[in-house]
Amino acid sequence: MVALDGPSGTGKTTVARKLAGRLSARYLDTGAMYRVVTLAVLRAGTNPDDLGAVGHLAHDVEFSLGTDPEKPDVRLAGEDVAAEIRGPEVTRAVSAVSSVPQVREVLVARQRRMIADVLADTGGIVVEGRDIGTTVAPESPLKVYLTASADVRAARRSNQDTAAGRSSSVEAARESVERRDRLDSTRAASPLRAAEDAVPVDTSELTIDQVIVALTELARRRGLLGDCPAAPAGATGAGVTT
Ligand code: C5P
Repeated sequence: MVALDGPSGTGKTTVARKLAGRLSARYLDTGAMYRVVTLAVLRAGTNPDDLGAVGHLAHDVEFSLGTDPEKPDVRLAGEDVAAEIRGPEVTRAVSAVSSVPQVREVLVARQRRMIADVLADTGGIVVEGRDIGTTVAPESPLKVYLTASADVRAARRSNQDTAAGRSSSVEAARESVERRDRLDSTRAASPLRAAEDAVPVDTSELTIDQVIVALTELARRRGLLGDCPAAPAGATGAGVTT
């Protein structure tokens, strides 16, 4: 198992999916879980800041999440909500919802069950989030904490929004990313932070392929590599040390 944590805009999702593909592993996007519960809160007309109501609702949300890195399906009561959970309404409210202790209890338990099922069944899994190395799976044999400069993270998020057909400016993306990171890292319940034994990787100056090469090498050193294909042509590992 690989635990991949870090703030928004560090390339976590792209890196996690590609790495899972290279390691022939499954993929778990824990952020999608907090997003799908947030969508349920908004659809129910519940105020995301009403801790009691949100906590209560979290127990009843019926959702499913796929672990195929090629196509991680997200459904709320059977409906495909993969695009909607990335929209601005959910993004604005998700940090409030994810700070509610009952929400975290329900979702962390579900994440641990999914990880255990995959490990017992097919083998490897790459799990991305904010608290995977610290709370969800502190026993993970490889923990990576991705970072990037504020400018790079804002530019990446703005490009992603534009590519997904959502209007975006770098300034608005920077405000949104910084606001979410502030809320995520200052909340009381399992805040965003690097585990003490996580390997920090600054992705500011790296291409995705360089990050993948570096992480594949880390996975190899931890004995997590099965029949993994060779590194992508032209890519070099990027000075990451354990
Ligand atoms: O990774 P993503 O940007 O989709 O995460 C959305 C939000 O979900 C984060 O801003 C954070 O509030 C919450 N989250 C969390 N713990 C995780 C994953 C995500 O609190 N493990």
